[in-house]
Amino acid sequence: MIKLNHKFVEFIPDALDDGVLYVSLTHGTAVHRCCCGCGREVVTPLTPTDWKLIFDGETVSLYPSIGNWNFPCRSHYWITQNRIEWAEDWDDWRIAAAEEKGRRMKAKFYGALEGGQLGDTDSVHEKARGKFWSRFWKD
Ligand SMILES: [Zn+2]
Repeated sequence: MIKLNHKFVEFIPDALDDGVLYVSLTHGTAVHRCCCGCGREVVTPLTPTDWKLIFDGETVSLYPSIGNWNFPCRSHYWITQNRIEWAEDWDDWRIAAAEEKGRRMKAKFYGALEGGQLGDTDSVHEKARGKFWSRFWKD
């Protein structure tokens, strides 16, 4: 797969089509099926500490890259102007470093670094995640 089509939706549908990046601005999230063809759902929340979506009027780009390290395929790619640009597989240490950086960014963003405590980061993250999911799924 080398291209994605984007679709702006209010709610992410239950059944996703391959090759479609669903974007819900209302819910601040984008969802697509893994571009390697394995079909797993990739959720990219749009927040100041997660992904940014750039819409130029015709195409969308997501920043930063999408690393599906938790999937068996471990695919890693960029979505740039609806095109998929494959990136290299990362070593575990590099993934760990990127995750640590993400945790610190989140901790800073959600104010958990006050008092120099990093211990609560995960629960802050979980809270943000819980809020995210409850916004995301329609009952
Ligand atoms: Zn995959």
